[in-house]
Amino acid sequence: MELWFTEKANDYVGLSCRVREILTRKQSIYQEITVMDTKQFGKILLLDGVLQTTTKDEFAYHEMISHVPLNSHPNPRKVAVIGGGDGGTVREIVKHKSIEKVVLVEIDADVINISKQYLPEIAGGLDDQRVEILIADGIDHIQKSKDVYDIIIIDSTDPVSGGPAFDLFTSDFYTCVYEALTKDGIMVTQTESPYYEPEAVQHIYQAVSKSFPITRLYLAYIPTYPSGMWSFTLGSKSKKPEAMANKHNQGFPTKYYTPDIHKAAFSLPVFVQNLITEK
Ligand code: SAM
Repeated sequence: MELWFTEKANDYVGLSCRVREILTRKQSIYQEITVMDTKQFGKILLLDGVLQTTTKDEFAYHEMISHVPLNSHPNPRKVAVIGGGDGGTVREIVKHKSIEKVVLVEIDADVINISKQYLPEIAGGLDDQRVEILIADGIDHIQKSKDVYDIIIIDSTDPVSGGPAFDLFTSDFYTCVYEALTKDGIMVTQTESPYYEPEAVQHIYQAVSKSFPITRLYLAYIPTYPSGMWSFTLGSKSKKPEAMANKHNQGFPTKYYTPDIHKAAFSLPVFVQNLITEK
């Protein structure tokens, strides 16, 4: 018998892949957490049946959500990650020598525990001694933080109505993020597929623009996310992120990110550019 998993992007299209084995499945306070093994994508983490990350292509997402903002900042020392309980974003952040502290604010401790047990190749960075893990709502933490972080990365689940991540995509929250950042501070948030969720991309870009003088959209290619084309929205207090690409001599290996990719990621296809310039 063949077992197949399908993630529907909407009522009309989805991604299917054959499952080798369900490794674990648990209902936490917030969501159903599943890790399964597949031939095509390796191990896959699902939350409420929605694909979060796979061991085959996670590097593209985690490198681009972390190295782009970090390398756009003159001297990033203190970083907050909101969500990100699988640990992939933290794993990339701690590669930077300038980093003194990373605070991971994840609402669901079970995501962290299951990722450590079943996805150690992704979650490994969580054991770095510069990392502090808070099991809390990222909104509360950011509201209480003033002038604290050089970089804030919002690595959350999608903005589903009634879900814990919904308010992480509002202009009120981005105002709090602005206040939580230090002088040259930069935030980035994952912002859906321009093909399947153009209104969400547009809405989030406008919301970030209300708080940040410099707002940019950039893209990365992640085969297991709906349509494969994924967007990130970056807000910066002072530095233009596309101008900072060659500033850092990384000194560590990557599989997706390069200074050229950093610069190129801000070059948008016309239909995506129109989304953020049309009123
Ligand atoms: N890369 C993934 C994606 O885009 O599909 C997201 C990765 S990570 C697993 C997302 C995490 O955000 C989840 O573990 C979820 O529990 C957490 N999360 C959702 N809302 C949150 C909130 N308000 N505060 C903190 N963490 C939150």
